Amino acid sequence: MTFSIHGLAIARGIAIGRAVLAASGSMEVAHYFIEPEQVQAEIARVRGGRNAVIEELQRLQADMPPDAPPELAALLDVHLMLLQDEMLVSGVKHWITDRLYNAEWALTTQLEIISRQFDEMEDEYLRERKADLAQVVERILRRMKGVAGPMAPPPSRARRQAEAGAEAEYLQGDAADVPLVLVAHDLSPADMLQFKQSVFAGFVTDVGGKTSHTAIVARSMDIPAVVGARLASQLVRQDDWIIIDGDAGTVIVDPTPIILAEYGFRQRQLALERERLTRLRHTPAVTLDAQAIELLANIEQPGDAAAALRAGAVGVGLFRSEFLFMGRGGRLPDEDEQYLAYREAVQCMEGLPVTIRTVDVGADKPLDKGYKDRSLNPALGLRAIRWSLSDPAMFRTQLRAMLRAAAHGPVRLLFPMLAHVSEIRQTLAQVDLARAELDARGAVYGPVQLGAMIEVPAAALIVQQFLRYFDFLSLGTNDLIQYTLAIDRADEAVAHLYEPLHPAVLRLVADVIAEGARQGKSVSVCGEMAGDVGMTRLLLGLGLRSFSMQPAQILAVKQEVLRVDARKLADWALQVLASDDPAAMLAQ
Ligand code: PEP
Ligand code: MG
Repeated sequence: MTFSIHGLAIARGIAIGRAVLAASGSMEVAHYFIEPEQVQAEIARVRGGRNAVIEELQRLQADMPPDAPPELAALLDVHLMLLQDEMLVSGVKHWITDRLYNAEWALTTQLEIISRQFDEMEDEYLRERKADLAQVVERILRRMKGVAGPMAPPPSRARRQAEAGAEAEYLQGDAADVPLVLVAHDLSPADMLQFKQSVFAGFVTDVGGKTSHTAIVARSMDIPAVVGARLASQLVRQDDWIIIDGDAGTVIVDPTPIILAEYGFRQRQLALERERLTRLRHTPAVTLDAQAIELLANIEQPGDAAAALRAGAVGVGLFRSEFLFMGRGGRLPDEDEQYLAYREAVQCMEGLPVTIRTVDVGADKPLDKGYKDRSLNPALGLRAIRWSLSDPAMFRTQLRAMLRAAAHGPVRLLFPMLAHVSEIRQTLAQVDLARAELDARGAVYGPVQLGAMIEVPAAALIVQQFLRYFDFLSLGTNDLIQYTLAIDRADEAVAHLYEPLHPAVLRLVADVIAEGARQGKSVSVCGEMAGDVGMTRLLLGLGLRSFSMQPAQILAVKQEVLRVDARKLADWALQVLASDDPAAMLAQ
């Protein structure tokens, strides 16, 4: 039966495909398709892992001391029984043989299916066996780690599949090659990095806000996605056909052929529109009144720089370096590893400026999935620059790597979440020290410009002081909105109150832009607001001349820039600022 689920629209476009339910943590395993001739080898890999675990448990059973607690023996029995359970074995075989999933993906998919059945059981004892099953699967996965599988295919396959038209597959019946859409309760930013390498054509999560980092990475991947869809992961079943409308924020489950045909049509129209926009790639972003507008890219990994160039970005306005630090079990990248990553981005941009932000972990960007932030309010805790300043040696390791990368092209250093002048002084002192350390070593490094993120209201209110210390500013509106309105940006329960057009937010944004212009220093916006076409006119009217956004949004914003006369927007922008209801004025 067809039904729809409403969430938040976070990444544009339409995806049509079969649902793949992801258990929490299952993104840590690789997801890719194998070739038909690899089926037997993949089944053998799972069998090998499973047999090794069976042997391990049997050995434990045999060596069990006579005084061991009886619960331990019973637990081993249960685990051995689960390992040999027909449903696990035949299910895994099915995903490998019929769907060509790699072995790890097949195992976690089947785990999720059986876990749901356990959840529905009346008997509490049986319900609790779910945790045992997860442990058993975890053991198999660990055993399989040493045995390499085939290489993952390039991620472009997801898009090729999506473009091949799921609609036809749906109407014709089963096919192994249909697009897949991921449905999960939550995906951490580190999960999203795995997701980038995977085969999915779109995703839906139960939780998350519009500018949560999961949403931001989805935009960088340029695939349709909906977050904050509450119960989606419980309502959707494995293999259900679903449509994700990333523009409307809706998920349609089990669509009728008529609905499917309609969305298939819209999907093709969007692809054509996108194709048309690519013609603007080399067109300079200049308004009708000849104002040059700088359109920069936000990237998460050095490999994203290529997409930035392809989209016609004239530089990187925000390289979120924290993604290099995540999902590594607490082992942080050393100076050389960071230097190589930053250098890769700098070289890829071929002489265009690259703005690298120092690590911004904490709040909804934990270093590791299992890491428990013990602070009561992580968004107000030891995050971003506060974290860096709490460990100066670690901070300088990053600074030295950045300074060395600057020898290969123009680099700008950006510092997140500064609020106090004392923090600015400490930060700049660390930069000086990092240079001195490089000098002492005789290491080569280049000149850098220094910039501050304005993402805390306190910083916006004392922007004049900030400008004494920095060459440029970047407005982090995602956090600025969060902290001005006291709304957790990742919490879907208050997402309706997360309002970029709140007069207080606009006032702070306007004042920072105006002060930058007065002092002749560059101010850009690198929050999601910069890539929202609905905000382009207002920001231009407020005097903004530099925008940094996900590469996928650049051409649409450029199209808007080319259509406007910025001079004429200034008076209107002042009226919007003074209005009680700016959103209504923008809608006119
Ligand atoms: C912001 O806060 O607007 C920003 C760009 O930084 P992040 O989204 O990484 O917090
Ligand atoms: Mg921020």
